[in-house]
Amino acid sequence: MRKSLIFTLLGIILISASTWGSEIEKKVYFSSKDNLSKIVLSELAKAEKSIHIAMYCFTLKPLAKGLAEAKRRNVEIKVLLDEGQKYSKSSRWDLLVEEGVKVKFYESPGLMHNKFCVIDEKVTLAGSYNWTGHANKINEENLIVIDSEEVAKQYEKEFQNLWTGPGIIEITSPKNAKYVGNRNSRIFHRKDCHYVKRMKETNKVYFADREEAIKAGFRPCKICKP
Ligand SMILES: [Zn+2]
Repeated sequence: MRKSLIFTLLGIILISASTWGSEIEKKVYFSSKDNLSKIVLSELAKAEKSIHIAMYCFTLKPLAKGLAEAKRRNVEIKVLLDEGQKYSKSSRWDLLVEEGVKVKFYESPGLMHNKFCVIDEKVTLAGSYNWTGHANKINEENLIVIDSEEVAKQYEKEFQNLWTGPGIIEITSPKNAKYVGNRNSRIFHRKDCHYVKRMKETNKVYFADREEAIKAGFRPCKICKP
């Protein structure tokens, strides 16, 4: 009796697993034979509502341009990067913030090593592929494009957890910033405070408003009183 119940349950699990698998439309690509950035770009071009990206490394200018173009079509874009990208000269987040794209950095002790992108809460791009020229031309990488609301929902949930979680810093462009924080002292200043002039460029974190700075764990300077 117990055995037959186990077999029945196993049967149900196998059937539902295979049904779930067949409902998902997925395409698999490899950098050894496919142009991965071109594939990503074509998916970004199809976006109508939202693009949410969690990417360890992002240096490809054509993809930054693709996002800027989507932003101009009123697609809501959020980009979460590992904090290592903040001072990388090749990182392309500066182009994004200039276009008004929301960019945040993950400052937790570990790496934000994800490489995924959810489009319109429906299509998920995942795999080993970072959005970099190296990954495109030199490395051996894979990319999977999954067309499934069910899968997208799970990635979207993880994205939202990371986006609103602790250790996340929102970035604004130096041009739009009202305040400048020092990432070592965790103190923020008005742009014209003399402390800012003395601050090393690599220590600067820009904030659009006070609330953003305080939310990121920075204290106001006692001299310029931002
Ligand atoms: Zn100050």
